[in-house]
Amino acid sequence: MFSIWEKESFYAPKDIVIVGSGFVGLWSAYFLKKKDPSLSITIIDRGIIPTGASTRNAGFSCFGSVTELMADTLNIGEDKMLELVEMRYRGLKRIRKTFRSSDIAYEEAGGYELVTPYQGIGINLLRSNIDWLNQRLKGITGKTKTFQVSDSKISQFGFREVNHLIENKLEGELHSGKLCQKLLQLVQSLGVTVLNNIEIKHFGHVNGRIELETNVPTNLYCNKLLVCTNAFAKQLLPDLDVEPARGQILVTSPLPSLKWKGTFHYDEGFYYFRDLHNRVLLGGARNKAFEAEHTYDLSTTALIQDELERFLREVILPGQDLQIEYRWSGIMGTGGEKKPVLRELSQNIFCAVRMGGMGVALAPQVGKWVAKNMI
Ligand SMILES: Cc1cc2nc3c(=O)[nH]c(=O)nc-3n(C[C@H](O)[C@H](O)[C@H](O)COP(=O)(O)OP(=O)(O)OC[C@H]3O[C@@H](n4cnc5c(N)ncnc54)[C@H](O)[C@@H]3O)c2cc1C
Repeated sequence: MFSIWEKESFYAPKDIVIVGSGFVGLWSAYFLKKKDPSLSITIIDRGIIPTGASTRNAGFSCFGSVTELMADTLNIGEDKMLELVEMRYRGLKRIRKTFRSSDIAYEEAGGYELVTPYQGIGINLLRSNIDWLNQRLKGITGKTKTFQVSDSKISQFGFREVNHLIENKLEGELHSGKLCQKLLQLVQSLGVTVLNNIEIKHFGHVNGRIELETNVPTNLYCNKLLVCTNAFAKQLLPDLDVEPARGQILVTSPLPSLKWKGTFHYDEGFYYFRDLHNRVLLGGARNKAFEAEHTYDLSTTALIQDELERFLREVILPGQDLQIEYRWSGIMGTGGEKKPVLRELSQNIFCAVRMGGMGVALAPQVGKWVAKNMI
């Protein structure tokens, strides 16, 4: 049983409870408090630390590569593709405005997309796609050439089996763990309570407020509830169109002779790699086993890890002696449409989930949407 002190402080009823302390839950708390500092807010997470995608991703500060944005245009249409790019671009600006680069290890090192002969994309098609996107993105980035062909860098970087390289100087890289910690410190400094190791099992309206059933021996109460559990949303809200999509990552041993810096995309964003000081972080290949990667399980598998290692040794660092020092996975939230689900589900119960593969960038704008629509 809890003491009266505990019940009347940590577990006291709140104006707002946010479930999930990933980037979306944290940015939402930040913008809610900015709009109304008098709100009492508690963020609950079932992990000892945030244990979704936010602390397990690749740390790209990106808003979309050429082949991914062209595929999105086909799948969701030009307007929705541009809407997402704008949200991401503005989100990245907000991150940089809120935190010192040194605090989150942010570097505007530039981004690139690799094009290999296997993709069957000729230079003429590539240039016309780049021109088309540059025109559309000009209103968002303010640049006439967001993307440009940089083939001369292929040999400089030492890649094999790559026939074109597309450069995006506006892309950067950051340290996701540091960003998450800084955000946590920021919201706590604004008076937000953060409770870890508590899982929300169910919730519902009871006597004019919202009751949350937990795995600890007390229920929690609030006037308004925000669910930010991303990939895990269906566990609480079975009707939502949100599916788990595991992303696996590996990191090499230090490589003193690494010839490049920056973030790199390949194959519509299904493969991605970056420098991490003098190591290489590489992730993706989910398209090699869509069914198996449709899971909440945070382990890694030989099939995906072997494919990542093949890509690493054949394309990125051919002939180099290296070891793999880290392997992990994180779970993305995806669904029928490549767009976050931002919605009031029933009176005073909101959700902000399904962030897909670029949620670092989306999260600040999602937090703004929450503050605008929830209070
Ligand atoms: C491998 C990988 C690489 C990625 N790389 C990038 C990248 O480079 N750049 C980029 O922009 N995006 C990237 N992403 C996507 C990005 O990380 C996510 O979109 C973003 O972190 C989602 O944030 P979130 O707050 O919505 O969800 P999450 O960070 O997943 O947070 C959800 C939280 O909810 C908690 N939770 C779940 N259920 C409950 C419950 N019932 N009770 C209490 N707590 C609960 C979880 O513990 C978790 O902490 C990547 C994702 C993955 C998996």
